[in-house]
Amino acid sequence: MKVPFVDLKRQYLQIKPEVDQAIQQRLERAEFVGGDIIHEFEQAFAEFIGAKHCIACGNGTDSIEILLRAFGIGVGDEVIVPAHTWITASETVSFVGAKPVFADVEPLTYTIDPLRIVELINKNTKAIIVVHLAGCPAKMDEILNIAKEYNLMVIEDVAQAHNSEYLGQKTGSIGHAGSFSFYPSKNLGAYGDAGAMVTDDPEIAERARALANHGQLEKHNHILEGRNSRMDPIQSAVLLVKLKYLNQWTNSRIRLATHYADLLGGLDVQLPVVPSYAKHVFHLYMIQLEKRNEVKSYLDKSGITTNIHYPVALPFLKPYAGNNHQGEFPVARSAQDRLLSLPLFPELTDDELGYVCQVLKEALI
Ligand SMILES: *Cc1c(COP(=O)(O)O)cnc(C)c1O
Repeated sequence: MKVPFVDLKRQYLQIKPEVDQAIQQRLERAEFVGGDIIHEFEQAFAEFIGAKHCIACGNGTDSIEILLRAFGIGVGDEVIVPAHTWITASETVSFVGAKPVFADVEPLTYTIDPLRIVELINKNTKAIIVVHLAGCPAKMDEILNIAKEYNLMVIEDVAQAHNSEYLGQKTGSIGHAGSFSFYPSKNLGAYGDAGAMVTDDPEIAERARALANHGQLEKHNHILEGRNSRMDPIQSAVLLVKLKYLNQWTNSRIRLATHYADLLGGLDVQLPVVPSYAKHVFHLYMIQLEKRNEVKSYLDKSGITTNIHYPVALPFLKPYAGNNHQGEFPVARSAQDRLLSLPLFPELTDDELGYVCQVLKEALI
């Protein structure tokens, strides 16, 4: 049996008539940039997340960079980011001229550790980027308390956690602003690149909207210098169709994660932990184990595709080699060597999941 890591075609086939029609409509109207459909998506998504404003943009990296700019973060400023995540968190900070400062993560959820954040704050610190990694919300109350005490902005990177909740509140609506990616394989994915920002702050929303569109709120009225980071109307149309199914797909991910936990319990691996405050949406099913690389190649040989998120933690990547890091990042270092992501997507079948567990057991003998 072959088990793919993700199979986007299965989901497309489920919604083909609706999504084909939505795309066809854009083609027939020759609506290739701009249009009401984008605002329609922004409104629907803001409502879904429970935020006052949503601004669509080109992707989930632009959205972080634009939010940093909207908050006025730049040269001389420091932003605290998790040591273990995708490089977006740190590269965007550098791109606006500020300095990313890495904080180690929690050993079981891999989200930023509030205790480490406090140690890194100085007079230049302006913001914290929180990543809800793999679909698990970070400890938002602790982080927001620190932010309040030191007057820091909190940007949530929700690229892996659409529809997750912290104490019943949707992530993205908890900090000062939230950033979403709709990269095709995310929990809510477009059919190309797309992203969005959400916030309750009307001034940040206006600045972000202007920054994403050459600094203009209306044509030729440039209130500042910005850039071009637009969401295509075709992507808005696809996302509007798919948003209706997000709850159903999220439930399916959660069910499959429970199924994995049932079948893998008792093995010598660390399974994902769901904190009591969290609705975890399992963008990734990450387990920790010894001999990770050997197990991964055994699974590969048996037709099972797995991934490593991420093989090198951010502080140890080449662009940050010259940084004068504070701390040794023991958790991030161990995570990079021990984590393995198993196949998990809403359309994964019980047979496939059972096969993954069976082969994993063989590999561990
Ligand atoms: C996917 C991802 C991003 C970037 O999104 P793009 O749309 O590909 O730019 C940012 N942060 C995290 C945690 C991600 O997983």
